[in-house]
Amino acid sequence: MSIIDEALRANATIANDFDPARDKPPAPKIAIVTCADPRLSDIEQMLGLAEGDVDMIRNFGTVIDDDAVRSLILSTRLLGTREIMIINHTDCGMLRFTDSELEERLRKQTGQAPIAPAKFYSFTDADKNTREQMQKARSHPWISPEVPIRGFVYDVKTGRLSEVFPDGDTR
Ligand SMILES: [Zn+2]
Repeated sequence: MSIIDEALRANATIANDFDPARDKPPAPKIAIVTCADPRLSDIEQMLGLAEGDVDMIRNFGTVIDDDAVRSLILSTRLLGTREIMIINHTDCGMLRFTDSELEERLRKQTGQAPIAPAKFYSFTDADKNTREQMQKARSHPWISPEVPIRGFVYDVKTGRLSEVFPDGDTR
């Protein structure tokens, strides 16, 4: 059986215990952009935040790309989140190749050279990358300057965050 079929079978049973109180209008307080890596899946718990308080935006490599910006604008402007955390992490898969290496590998595997994605956003330094993503979000005219944007690197070996400051300071 495929994993999806197993998940559907499990859902049919698990949904029997569904709490109807969960169906409240969302009122998140904070937006978090982080990596799709499964080691970050319980990041709300690691931060002591209630799931209902968080708009979670995840993609490979914690990138502030067009889609993440779209979600941040909707989250802050329409849903009312008041702060933004950008959480990169140690040992990210996006540290293990360059965009051109991956493109070359995929071209060889498939014999195709499509026009998208324009970039994979691989990186070599998590702190530097986090700083760049913070700058991208901060410079967007539709994200209010009143919304704090803070960046962090999550250590997958300890579960601890270290803050990345926009000016490169380590405080
Ligand atoms: Zn990652």
